[in-house]
Amino acid sequence: MDLAKIIKRKTMFSFEVLPPLKGRSIEGIYKTIDPLLEFYPQFINITTHCEQYDANGKRLRKRPGTVAVASAIHHKYNIPVVPHILCGGFTREETEYVLIDLHYLGITNLLVLRGDGRNKEHFQPEENGNRYAVELLHQIDDMNHGKYLGDTEPNSSAKTSFSCGVAGYPEKHYSASSLDEDIQHLKEKVDAGAQYIVTQMFFDNQKYFDFVEKCRKVGITVPIIPGIKPVGFMSQVDVLPRIFGCEMPQELDKNLRACKTDADAAKVGTEWAIYQAKELIQYGVPSLHWFTYSDPSQVVEIAKAIY
Ligand code: FAD
Repeated sequence: MDLAKIIKRKTMFSFEVLPPLKGRSIEGIYKTIDPLLEFYPQFINITTHCEQYDANGKRLRKRPGTVAVASAIHHKYNIPVVPHILCGGFTREETEYVLIDLHYLGITNLLVLRGDGRNKEHFQPEENGNRYAVELLHQIDDMNHGKYLGDTEPNSSAKTSFSCGVAGYPEKHYSASSLDEDIQHLKEKVDAGAQYIVTQMFFDNQKYFDFVEKCRKVGITVPIIPGIKPVGFMSQVDVLPRIFGCEMPQELDKNLRACKTDADAAKVGTEWAIYQAKELIQYGVPSLHWFTYSDPSQVVEIAKAIY
């Protein structure tokens, strides 16, 4: 089924998982997914771990295997999968090979991202790699028209049929000089073929509502799916805003700082996420997309309270 069509139907439930650490079994992913099946996830995203470099400058990936994990989930559960495709760490040629593998496997829904790469402040693409998500969208669009690297003319019998989502940032991407500028770049991604947007995590729903309004004003009409992360540990009160550029509302910040244990913090995080989810459903969001990662327990508790 085409993801762009499903997400127009109702408030859906979706989540994302990480590929296992190198050498670990895929069973851990199934253990994350199984408890969430009762909420009928309409799609499952599989992240791609950004590249790292060792002391000799050699490229490493701690969690390789996104394509194989996506295929395994797709076949085991028959639920649409959405592998994340990155610019960072891949040449255009390597990207083309990944896309060809996905095409052969019948996996056509992608979340198209830049990634952060070796230097978060000054993103460095690989030599002959894509610099921005919009360039990667153009490469995918070329393949959807039957045009591969090195071709001068498209071949109409070699078309792929990828459908792409992209990332949006209600509190602006960290390297953009303003939210308006960031939204202009988001519009470029939609104009380049992105069919929906999944947001970075946020804890203040008003930030999401304002973002949607600003997007609509500049002519972005595609669905904007909120990404939600329940706080699970005391340390996340500082870590999440720092890493993901999302502010904690005063009340949440105060309640988390009053916690004495991680279990207390998870309780506060769960209650906050339930409140966020209920308000977002009332607002009419197309889907609630959960950053589950490797532990489904909190999302199970939240989903029981909201569905
Ligand atoms: P882009 O859209 O390329 O934007 C990056 C920056 O460049 C922005 O500041 C933008 O305003 C600016 N910009 C865009 N186009 C232009 C242009 N043409 N000229 C000048 N400036 C421009 N990271 C991972 O490594 N793996 C994952 O699996 C992953 N999953 C994610 C899932 C979601 C839902 C989200 C929200 C993020 C995810 N990320 C992931 C993080 C993402 O890779 C980073 O946030 C990255 O820094 C930006 O990616 P992007 O696709 O938004 O970049």
